[in-house]
Amino acid sequence: MADELGVTLQSGTRIPDAYYMLSDAQLDERIRAAKAKLGEQVVLLGHHYQGARVIQWADFTGDSFRLARLALTRSNAKYIVFCGVHFMAETADVLSPEETVVILPDLGAGCSMADMANERQVDDCWSELAERLPGSKIIPITYMNSTAALKAFCGENDGAVCTSSNAEGILKWAFERGDKILFFPDQHLGRNTGYKMGIPLEQMVIYNPLFGDFECTDEELKNAKIILWKGFCSVHQKFTVEQEEEVRRLYPDMKIIVHPECSLEVVLGADYVGSTEHIIKVIEESPAGSQWAIGTEINLIHRLAEEHKDKLIVSLSGPNVCPCATMYRISPQHLCWALEQLAAGTVVNHVQVDRETRKWAGVALERMLAIAK
Ligand code: SF4
Repeated sequence: MADELGVTLQSGTRIPDAYYMLSDAQLDERIRAAKAKLGEQVVLLGHHYQGARVIQWADFTGDSFRLARLALTRSNAKYIVFCGVHFMAETADVLSPEETVVILPDLGAGCSMADMANERQVDDCWSELAERLPGSKIIPITYMNSTAALKAFCGENDGAVCTSSNAEGILKWAFERGDKILFFPDQHLGRNTGYKMGIPLEQMVIYNPLFGDFECTDEELKNAKIILWKGFCSVHQKFTVEQEEEVRRLYPDMKIIVHPECSLEVVLGADYVGSTEHIIKVIEESPAGSQWAIGTEINLIHRLAEEHKDKLIVSLSGPNVCPCATMYRISPQHLCWALEQLAAGTVVNHVQVDRETRKWAGVALERMLAIAK
């Protein structure tokens, strides 16, 4: 199928094995050439968790919030090549003009957290809540790390999207409109944000999507302010209080900074907590000679250590690092292939959200952008 630009659209095509025979230098040269040929028609967005060999080609880098804004403002490009994971590419498709084509170099780049909530499970939970809490106004809030279908669910049901940069502002907004919040899919971001806002832990209950039930009594559900979906990030859940104690023991002057996808215990044991963009800012603004143990994805930690050689920067988990395996799927080989195909007139791995989902997911995302200006 050819689009109105005369470009053939394909999805799900497999990368030829020949790309794996190329040396790093050959790949770099070919990516450079394809990018130069495409010029301003294409913009490359790169998430901070990408490896150095991919992020070096990004025109813009950011966390999911910043990249969502960029998708909105870089609307002059015909193509967005997204070096991130699937839900981010979907968000870019929703926020960019309809004619903009979004490409994810490997469609297998998903997110284990986003996969922990699907439409059917959320519908079941929503019906259960309506039955068990008649008369209650519940606002659904989804973390950015979710499918477009779940963002659309929030759009249609008076809810919104949030990111780790703006979760508190979005929850405040939601409490002005309802008496409870259903927060999915990351229990930790929901709990950490609620705790920071002064909501007692006993007023934050858990919904377990695997069993389709609440892990609390009827009374606890009735008194709850936030219903937390039992999802988590496999990378950030790996950080522990024991690791923090070890850092304190070995490096008394070292500061600990963690992402709010870590557990509440780890967040409470840290000196600072914040989104990826916040972590970068804190490190950038810290004085030479300062020491940092960071609880987030390892590619970002390596990059910060490389860029701030005057500071001691290590992973909170020491050598036992857990990279985001799905981000790694956007390899230099996949990037090279996607760009070369595009330069030759074929779009591979096109990410396109259907019209109805796009409309309602757009409503939920625009609410977030308006609240978190
Ligand atoms: S770091 Fe965690 S939340 Fe982020 S993309 Fe990877 S699995 Fe998903």
